Amino acid sequence: MKVTVLGSGTSHGVPAIGCDCAVCRSSDPHDRRTRPSILMQLDGDAGSPFAGAVRSILVDTSTDLRMQALANDVRRVDAILFTHTHADHVFGIDEVRRYNHMQRSPIACFADQGTVASLKRMFAYIFEPPKQQGGGLPQLSLFEIGGEFTLGGAAVVPIPLFHGNLPILGFRVGTFAYLTDCNRIPDTSWPLLDGVRTVIIDALRHRPHSTHFSVAEAVTAIQRIGADRAYLTHISHDLGHAATNAQLPAGVELAYDGLVLEIAE
Ligand SMILES: [Zn+2]
Ligand SMILES: [Zn+2]
Ligand SMILES: [Zn+2]
Repeated sequence: MKVTVLGSGTSHGVPAIGCDCAVCRSSDPHDRRTRPSILMQLDGDAGSPFAGAVRSILVDTSTDLRMQALANDVRRVDAILFTHTHADHVFGIDEVRRYNHMQRSPIACFADQGTVASLKRMFAYIFEPPKQQGGGLPQLSLFEIGGEFTLGGAAVVPIPLFHGNLPILGFRVGTFAYLTDCNRIPDTSWPLLDGVRTVIIDALRHRPHSTHFSVAEAVTAIQRIGADRAYLTHISHDLGHAATNAQLPAGVELAYDGLVLEIAE
């Protein structure tokens, strides 16, 4: 499986509008961060039993989805997993029309009960469409998930997390887990992370925050998970890429937009 970090920034993005801090003014391209999202591409060629099945799985439809898809030449989206419905994770939802056009089919979306209800409420124009469609509407099939399910031959394990008081989902596929937007992993979710070797996890900044892990809190969680490789995401302008990486323990680094990870089976 190949994982591409489409966006590694917090909800404001980096640079933030109107900010003159060192990170927002940095010339290092790693310090330019769009809103959080990843793409997981399952292996499988023409000879594979999964050929033609689901292979390109998007996690969230970030505000920056269009530019992320262009920057990373994302040609297919077969399925979308939603973590939660904060604006930074869903406000690019209209961009999936392009995939509907190219693939000539609706896209299956998977989320927990609260997120499905929230998507229907926030995007009534999609799910309760008017008679006149104009430029077209995203064609999405929502599926409520309550536990592990299979996509393209791969087991997808939802990982319940807490984002402040809000329950949200991380996702695990094989030895990889994506745990954005969290500041607590409940006791019942730790066993679901057994055997994870590569993790992308929320770390907003050094100072504590009420709904996101700090860098130190994320490092503690990574050590408990026992991952070989860890990448911090949902990063604010408090963390410069090079300076922060120089201080992180071995095996832990900041994610960046366009980072590609190869995940062994
Ligand atoms: Zn700044
Ligand atoms: Zn959030
Ligand atoms: Zn977020």
